[in-house]
Amino acid sequence: MNEAKTIFEVRRWASLFLQENNRETGVGELLVQHHLGMTRAQLFANAQDEVSVDVREKIEQDLRQHVAQGTPVQHLIGTEEFYGRLFKVNQDVLIPRPETEELVLGVLERMKQTGMFSEPLTCVDIGTGSGIIATTLAKELHHATMYATDISSEALQVAEQNAHALHADVQFRQGDFLAPVIEEGVTFDVVVSNPPYIPEGDRDTLSDVVRDHDPSLALFAGEDGLAAYRRIIEQLPAVVKKETLLALEIGHDQRHTVPALIEAAFPHAYIDVVQDINQNDRMVF
Ligand code: GLN
Repeated sequence: MNEAKTIFEVRRWASLFLQENNRETGVGELLVQHHLGMTRAQLFANAQDEVSVDVREKIEQDLRQHVAQGTPVQHLIGTEEFYGRLFKVNQDVLIPRPETEELVLGVLERMKQTGMFSEPLTCVDIGTGSGIIATTLAKELHHATMYATDISSEALQVAEQNAHALHADVQFRQGDFLAPVIEEGVTFDVVVSNPPYIPEGDRDTLSDVVRDHDPSLALFAGEDGLAAYRRIIEQLPAVVKKETLLALEIGHDQRHTVPALIEAAFPHAYIDVVQDINQNDRMVF
């Protein structure tokens, strides 16, 4: 990047370098913003300012790591935004996806529709990862007692830091899906989860950015991708009330399989499959 000196030139260099290597150009913008501590608007306003050699080197190093190893930009900058808040992420947790914001929105909308929004509620997020769902619901639902579980103690450390930094009150428990809260005898008004749902055999269809950097535990769920749903639904009777909202993120081709599992265990459940903004089947309520 020796030739590129101004902010404009560095941005252009980054964009071309990414294009030449078949990577998304947006990564460059994010890295330039991060290393300069500037918003996108500030990059435009200060386009002709020179970037120090030190900062240029850091940007180039990150770009080369992204191109060579597929390291996600979120791991390079250490954060991802979810529902308007910034969350710390690392290799121990799934990087938050925009689809999951729609799952959270769906829960909040249903709470509003049923008049439960401002009621005291008890909720649980199964497999909380970075803690995005639990933390967001704790912030948005003012009278909720929020629990969150994960089998990975490394993930729980990240989730706890995120909840703490955002002043969210969440009870974190380590264990297999609902096991720790079943042991405590808690029952829930809302059970939400974005569990792993990719079949093991689909590993090679994923990009290196996902396959080599998101935790396998967060992605894959047995041969048919349904192992986590089976486990959750098997445990569910121990924690539900007379009326409980179950909200699950699903894979785009699981609109029949996941509802069938729910129906088999809860024949009277009212089941709603909802598409995400890209018109993929993505949520079951
Ligand atoms: N609940 C977290 C998220 O939605 C982690 C999900 C996962 O690891 N499968 O990002």
